[in-house]
Amino acid sequence: ARYADPDVVRERDRRHVWHTWTPVGADRSAAMFTHASGYRIWDIDGREYIEGSALNSTCGYAHPEVTRAVAEQAGRLHHVDVSLTSHDLAGALAERIASYLPAPLTRTLFVNSGSEGFDAAVLMAVGHAAHQGRPRSRIVAFARGYQGATVLARSLSDLPRCRHPMTAPLPVTLVDLPLPPRDLRRPEALPVLLDAFERAIGADPADPPAAVVVEPFLNVGGGVVLPPGFLAGLRALCDATGTLLVVDEVFTAYGRAGAMFACARDGVVPDVVVSSKGLAGGYVPIAAVTAGEHVYEGFAADPVIGGLRYGHTTSGHAVACAAALATLDVLEKENLVERAEWLGGRMAARVAHLAGTGEVVDVRRLGLVVVLEMTTEDAALAVLARARAHGLLLRRQGAAVMAVPPLVIDDAGADALVDRLLAALPGPA
Ligand code: PLP
Repeated sequence: ARYADPDVVRERDRRHVWHTWTPVGADRSAAMFTHASGYRIWDIDGREYIEGSALNSTCGYAHPEVTRAVAEQAGRLHHVDVSLTSHDLAGALAERIASYLPAPLTRTLFVNSGSEGFDAAVLMAVGHAAHQGRPRSRIVAFARGYQGATVLARSLSDLPRCRHPMTAPLPVTLVDLPLPPRDLRRPEALPVLLDAFERAIGADPADPPAAVVVEPFLNVGGGVVLPPGFLAGLRALCDATGTLLVVDEVFTAYGRAGAMFACARDGVVPDVVVSSKGLAGGYVPIAAVTAGEHVYEGFAADPVIGGLRYGHTTSGHAVACAAALATLDVLEKENLVERAEWLGGRMAARVAHLAGTGEVVDVRRLGLVVVLEMTTEDAALAVLARARAHGLLLRRQGAAVMAVPPLVIDDAGADALVDRLLAALPGPA
């Protein structure tokens, strides 16, 4: 009853909650949710929506196996400090993550968010360079990338709405996309893109980079699918210059890209991989920074504490580990990763013909993410508003509209999602 009256609930929220990212004072009264199941979610007025805006939902809402695992772990041992001690699930989860990655990547540091993961990953790369006897601190990354909101993570890119008035803690060389996203499918795109990275890596020969940090798919940067061979090409550039390759799989890992890890599917072995969103399906915050033993071992020589001077009170939280293990069990048992690739293809096939027509500039897909790039941000906002009126939630990044359903969405749900998406697009003028 404390939360029952919609008007009281809305008023409390309006008065007391400082919402992330969105403008101060924005009206959120139309988007207040109370419960969800599978791929369906209900708002406070009882309206039902298909969830097509799920950043971290792999096994969907209220999955009985995950909710049971969370409750059981909370009642058994919810948390111990993993800096000096450990608990019985930390090793099980770290081993499980290693099983999805190429052999050298066996060592996982747990944190609570993707952003924290990049603070740690950059410290690892800078530390590694020092351990090799060649101190480096410069980082090369996409200008349109997004590694997170902490001061360090946000310095690794230059999205207009993430700009901040602080000086970057490390020197960063940013790489602009040399071609518009829709042209990245063209055969000549890969060499052009790799050439831009090669120039950034060599930008200051007296100051080679400690790491190249990239996402296999630019999520916040506008749903940009990078060409096949991109990570492999970067690996070769990094090898030639003694630079670590740090791959941001915060969005792509655990099925979203149609593989457990996009880098592993592409046969590329990074030095450090950061993953988060799908790991515990959003049930409890958790992120994993998984490094090669060659990176880990160097830290034994740290003169002050003999390790990475990094961690959080709730790193490796036992309930989060339980949620992650249960989520990964569901992914495997229900074959959701392969299904994501198949279902994404089926959904994209129904909208592919729209590319270059009306207000749709491009249609592209990665795994179970279907992106419709519109002519303008306003056009994308209008699609989101009409979709909501048709009972569908979508995501938007700039002018890109993205359908990102939970991986558990069934065929009928996916068909209904596309029907509603088509209904939300502007008709012929
Ligand atoms: N990296 C990518 C690719 C992301 O999409 C995000 C979040 O959207 C992050 C990093 C940051 O993760 P978090 O929001 O958990 O800090």
